[in-house]
Amino acid sequence: MDYEKFYITTPIYYINDKLHIGHAYTTIIADTIARWRRFRGDDVLFLTGTDENSQKTVEAAKKSGEEIISYTDRLAGAWETAWEKLRISNTDFIRTTEERHITTVNDFWERLRAADDIYLGKYEGLYCKGCEAFKKEDELVDECCPDHKTVPEFISEENYFFRLSRYQKQLLDFYEAHGDFVAPAHRFQEVKSFVEGGLEDISFSREKQDWGIPVPNDPRQVIYVWADALVNYVSSIGIEGWEEHPADIHAVGKDILRFHAVIWPAMLMSAGLPLPGQVIANGYLTVGGVKISKSLGNAVDPMDLAERYGVDALRYFLLREVPYGHDGDYSEEKMKERYNADLANGLGNFAARVSTLAEKEELKALSLDIEFENQINVTNGVVVKKMEELKFNDALAAIWELLSFGDRYVNEKKVWAIVDNDNRRQAIFNLVMLLEKVAIILKPFLPETSEKISNAFQREGDVIYVKKIDALFPRIK
Ligand SMILES: [Zn+2]
Repeated sequence: MDYEKFYITTPIYYINDKLHIGHAYTTIIADTIARWRRFRGDDVLFLTGTDENSQKTVEAAKKSGEEIISYTDRLAGAWETAWEKLRISNTDFIRTTEERHITTVNDFWERLRAADDIYLGKYEGLYCKGCEAFKKEDELVDECCPDHKTVPEFISEENYFFRLSRYQKQLLDFYEAHGDFVAPAHRFQEVKSFVEGGLEDISFSREKQDWGIPVPNDPRQVIYVWADALVNYVSSIGIEGWEEHPADIHAVGKDILRFHAVIWPAMLMSAGLPLPGQVIANGYLTVGGVKISKSLGNAVDPMDLAERYGVDALRYFLLREVPYGHDGDYSEEKMKERYNADLANGLGNFAARVSTLAEKEELKALSLDIEFENQINVTNGVVVKKMEELKFNDALAAIWELLSFGDRYVNEKKVWAIVDNDNRRQAIFNLVMLLEKVAIILKPFLPETSEKISNAFQREGDVIYVKKIDALFPRIK
């Protein structure tokens, strides 16, 4: 069979962050695309992982009274387990403390140095420990970091710098030639404007830190996040693997879009490596209209939601409720509403209805009525198009329209009451095929539900047996 390789990544998450709905959102988006590409026949590599080399890791380990190695092992394990529980279908999990990553980071750094893009300079500025980043005066609110509400420290140190400024024109030319490099389009516009405004060289290392990957030939310095964390996308497959087939999609949140759409491509240009196909950025999720923050304690736990509503219900909510690329809001009421209306009443009810009608029949394979065939084809076409446009919400809406079509058919024809055996069986056959089609096309979105429905079908010769599908989504009060 002729299949294509497809490589998609999520950001690697700060190991000591508590997993919240924002992490789950970006990862579920990537997972849906990964599953979609598999469904379409591609050979998919799907990478996620943990960023462990931050100074914050050291402090968090100290606080928990653990050796740093056992601390990072424990936390990386917790992230991996969480993704398993949320049915994330990643094919690799990378940790920045792994040997394969450290080797790649060293090789990568060497390439930038050989291109004369790394130089030693002096860095002075206001540094926020919480952000692990230098802050410009105009980013501060009342002299404080707006995210951490703390006064940044004045720091003066010797750092290695990356000549990002050299890549302004090359980046703009690249954007020009690759009109869909960043999606959605309004985010691409922001990136272009930022680069058009001019680029400054950026600090690429930190002094006097005892955790992280040392700068090759200068162990006084450790490599800062850019040339460490971002390189993970290459480390997973190796430099040769990347040369052969770089990432097709980096899925990120809008807060880290610039790093992926400006700094990362410039680094790859400098290293003489191919650029990724696309960077896609989701918006922020608020909770009940309020931005998620640790201090507010409103970070909704996706594991808890998955437990109470089911993994597929969580996936459905995030994919259906928020148009991709825009900011969205989670609230318990909205979740319940979607759950009861679309899942319990919509899909769950239709599956129960059709399987109840079908289980009493011996259904021979017939040919599908033309209106059903048309409706299914239309839905297929819409879903393919919407997936290309990253409009997951519209793709799901189209599938739900197909369900409504089926529901209307049951009501209008009063299928349960058709006396003529042939006519009744034809009507039920139509509905069974429609339900099976829905199950198949839902696979990338709601993998568990898709499987449950598909398992209710059994074929023996040209006879189709359907088991009753009960309570896919029990109503929640
Ligand atoms: Zn900060």
